[in-house]
Amino acid sequence: MLYDAHTHLHEFLDSRIAEFVREITITAVSDDYPSSKRTIDLANTYENIVPCIGIHPWNVDKVGLDELKQLDKLISEARCIGEVGLDRRFVPQTFSRQVEFFRVFVNWARDYGLPLNIHAPDAWVDVLEIVRRADVDGALFHWYTGPLNLIQEIRDYGYYISINAAIKVQEKSRVVARETPLDMILLESDGPYEYRGITLEPPMVKEAANIVAQLKGVGIDNLWESIANNFSRLFRV
Ligand SMILES: [Zn+2]
Repeated sequence: MLYDAHTHLHEFLDSRIAEFVREITITAVSDDYPSSKRTIDLANTYENIVPCIGIHPWNVDKVGLDELKQLDKLISEARCIGEVGLDRRFVPQTFSRQVEFFRVFVNWARDYGLPLNIHAPDAWVDVLEIVRRADVDGALFHWYTGPLNLIQEIRDYGYYISINAAIKVQEKSRVVARETPLDMILLESDGPYEYRGITLEPPMVKEAANIVAQLKGVGIDNLWESIANNFSRLFRV
């Protein structure tokens, strides 16, 4: 079995999803209430899906706080909270509203004992500060491209980072993979997404795994074994 720690599975057709989950266990993130609902439905239909509910930081100005009340009703079926977080790079203009929403999700994660699947471009330090202060048990810093000197601190709190399949063309992901201990690395596709000419979809984790195994100087089987262990510790599968 292979593992993808962050994908927007709700955006794919059912036929593709059925094909993916035959070989890949997928943590499926959501962007708002409708996609959270669909993600929960998918997890009830197919095997090998870890469903996350949440509101993406890019959407906080498009939804009301009442959307949180709707989401709250799905929480008993969720096994993770995401995609949530803070973003200073792409949507700095909504930052204070992002913080408002993120604090709610962080409290849910703590109160319900669910891991967070976090988006944090240029807000890595802010996010770590909020999450550790809230005493959240499990967190994934998805598509980590943050400061290298923060990696050890993230590990000290028992949190994880995921390396995106964009590592094929993204030098920063290679640098992160080299610097990060294997016991905190997960892989992800963030599909469906086009990044610099490559189509990010769950099966891309295979190629990413080959690259990371080479960079870490371990065999591919050992790499997947390590990822399986990390995945099951974080998402409790
Ligand atoms: Zn995403």
